[in-house]
Amino acid sequence: MTFDPETATFLIAGPVRIHPRVLRAMSLSSVNHRGDFFHGVVAEIRELLPLLFGARGHQVILTGSGSAGLEAMYSSLVPRDGRTLVLANGNFGERTDQIVRRYSTAVTTLSAPWGQHIPIDAARAELDKGDVRAVCVVHNETSVGLQNDLARLAPHVRRSGALFLVDGISAVAGIPIEIDAWGIDAVVAGSQKGLAAPAGLALVHLSDRARAALHGGTFYLDLAEHLKAIEKNDTPWTPAVPLFLALREALLLLKEETLAGRLARTHTLAEATRAAAAAIGLELFPDPRHASDTVTAIRNPAGLEDAQVRKALQETFNVAVQGGQGALKGKIFRIGHMGIADWPDLLVAFAALERILERAGRLPARGAALAAIAERMPLPP
Ligand code: PLP
Repeated sequence: MTFDPETATFLIAGPVRIHPRVLRAMSLSSVNHRGDFFHGVVAEIRELLPLLFGARGHQVILTGSGSAGLEAMYSSLVPRDGRTLVLANGNFGERTDQIVRRYSTAVTTLSAPWGQHIPIDAARAELDKGDVRAVCVVHNETSVGLQNDLARLAPHVRRSGALFLVDGISAVAGIPIEIDAWGIDAVVAGSQKGLAAPAGLALVHLSDRARAALHGGTFYLDLAEHLKAIEKNDTPWTPAVPLFLALREALLLLKEETLAGRLARTHTLAEATRAAAAAIGLELFPDPRHASDTVTAIRNPAGLEDAQVRKALQETFNVAVQGGQGALKGKIFRIGHMGIADWPDLLVAFAALERILERAGRLPARGAALAAIAERMPLPP
């Protein structure tokens, strides 16, 4: 079987599989983005967005991938005077550093090795110096399958008075984010991850404090302009209308499942993935105490190349998982289990993984991964 995107078991770390209802919602001819129909779509999306973030606040939809949301957030909120603290422990933390340095010359970056938790004690020591005006962090480090414990970082940021700016692209609607309780000022979500809409939109949530602190970033992504427009159910520039239609449907699906339901299901799928991997002797890449609930990063079994694992999954079994980034290329593979990923996806992926290991003479026990998954599937009432 060769890879067929229409029928694949699709478990990359985002974009994730899209529900047919969401696909159908996009299939509309052009509409006037300054007309009543589209204003109605934006109005509905605005009502639904607090369900995604689990908080009310100032929320905008940007045409552009998640990085557009990051550029908007950092360019408009990283202070021009004063120090910004960046915490990094993977590819996207390093990306944060790169973006933030475009907009500030006073950046301190504290890094942990890829796969280890961000250094909270060192961050606290920096914050105690009293001159940090913004803290920038990735909630879920997709590149290494690790979720940073923002609940533990939050009290230190709050006490310092710094703005708390979060890349939540692979976290929102996948792992719990207590925006209000943790005092987060801005968080960016991507349409293609936990929300399971197509790629191409960034959703940005801002606190009252963040809104007041906006200082005008890039022209196209100026959050103040976007806020002004969305309050009239409008957008400052021509929006990606089909993606907005898809977003509305994906939000309706989330409303039906509830955010709590989606988070709980994602967590159970993550536990099943980790248990299945362990059952056939596969090792997680990140510190297992902080393994992500949206993306599981697994080391390639010793002696097996990427071509024997990931390519075989794709080309023999029509299963798509993701490879490593940067220095981890060829060393790990990543299984995304967020959005509308479900039990059949995991069963097929692990049945195929078992066959790959069996062929390599490395399968400890046939069926062990599948049993570990089945044990975690819900029992009928
Ligand atoms: N930040 C994180 C944590 C991500 O996972 C990604 C994409 O995977 C990005 C930023 C970049 O988002 P995009 O590729 O949608 O621009």
